[in-house]
Amino acid sequence: MMLFPPTGLEYVATSAKGFVDKITLLDLRYELELADTDNLLSFISANIDIVCVSIGWDRQFDEICQLLNRIPKDIPLVVGGYKATEKVEELFQACPTIDIIVRGEGEESIREILIGVPLKGILGISFRENGAVIHNPNRPFPAVDSLPAPDRSLRHNEYSLTVNGIKICGIKFDSILSARGCPFDCKFCTFSLNPLGQKRDYAARSVASVIEELEGLEAQVILFSDDNLFAIPKRAEQICDEIIKRKIKKRFIAQARIDIARHPTLLKKMVQAGFKALLLGIESPHDWILDQLNKGFNQETIRKAFAVLTKYPILYNGYFIYGNIGEKEEEMLYIAQFAKEIGVDVISTNKLRIEKFSPLKELAQNTPGYHVTERGELYSDMYSHAALKKIGKKIKFSFYTPSRYVKILWKNIFVTKFFTLREVALLFFIFPRLFASIIIKEQQQGKLKDTLNRTFIKHG
Ligand code: SF4
Repeated sequence: MMLFPPTGLEYVATSAKGFVDKITLLDLRYELELADTDNLLSFISANIDIVCVSIGWDRQFDEICQLLNRIPKDIPLVVGGYKATEKVEELFQACPTIDIIVRGEGEESIREILIGVPLKGILGISFRENGAVIHNPNRPFPAVDSLPAPDRSLRHNEYSLTVNGIKICGIKFDSILSARGCPFDCKFCTFSLNPLGQKRDYAARSVASVIEELEGLEAQVILFSDDNLFAIPKRAEQICDEIIKRKIKKRFIAQARIDIARHPTLLKKMVQAGFKALLLGIESPHDWILDQLNKGFNQETIRKAFAVLTKYPILYNGYFIYGNIGEKEEEMLYIAQFAKEIGVDVISTNKLRIEKFSPLKELAQNTPGYHVTERGELYSDMYSHAALKKIGKKIKFSFYTPSRYVKILWKNIFVTKFFTLREVALLFFIFPRLFASIIIKEQQQGKLKDTLNRTFIKHG
């Protein structure tokens, strides 16, 4: 399912505006013609003066390095993004073509690079000089309200709801970032730390600037890509109030914690404002694991929260982590049952990852029989990667029965009213094709490749 634009990359590209003649923003998930390496390289050689690449994940990391190494040496190459920051040394070693790596949040650094500030004086970058790699001091976090909102006119692609390659009713998607950072300290979470291992202080934009950006959006469905939009419930309520007052007719999706169940007035306003789906980090049904992850709640709290949440016409996606340190197979498999018991509509499951600066690293390393790969994958003598993958599939198969898909569709149409009447009519037309593609995909899972690298290229 490819839905959302690369917001982080768009922020950086937007901040480069005015400092160069022309910017070409490429999202290689969509640029199918350019996704072929030779086409991309000819395009770069013919049109581009400086290439800036964002590496957000370590999926296809080796392929990305191979591509970077084919970029002509006379074109300056600047790399940034979450994974690039975490793997500065490895990247400089693996890719002799890289000139500069922008660490952490890149908006201000990229601007200084483009206006020609001497590299030694640019905070938050690492660069090559006389065969050595120089690491400048970190850059303090920028004030979020000082950053210009992403310029959507730089996009070449229409971001629309697509399931297994099938476009759903022409519904367009966009995302908006109303705050950076998260005030909580869940131990497994890499979002609350920046890639340098520093905790990013929670910083929220003013309600007025968020509303102004929202009013300019064309898409019907908007994802708040904040780690937790409701970190300050009063502020979230003000955002809802403004959306209602200004009659901004959008369908909203947001990430939240289950604590939101303690704020019925906010929930009521959210429904009124058009919030249709919440993505909730539940992580585990087991108290000892929730404790290990420092989630700040237990199974009873989750059950109580869902007893409230399920009264509201909102679709709930629960994130769960399995393969935790000390977790047994039957405990992992209980995730599906638990999700059904509490009334979660959709689940997303992930194996526990131990990133470079994870507070769980010490525990993983000191627990006999547990191992962490260079890429942060945790496995044990009892549960290999393959065994964990199988368990993950069992959890999914046990939760996603055909009737589950029907329930999800039913809820989206008749309860949350995510789809308009016209869209419902179109949906029924494509439903048989969609349903068949989902079943086939479930069966083929594991064989499919994700193509998620994103590139932003600038003309001088
Ligand atoms: S898991 Fe969610 S609530 Fe916890 S630290 Fe990360 S972003 Fe914050």
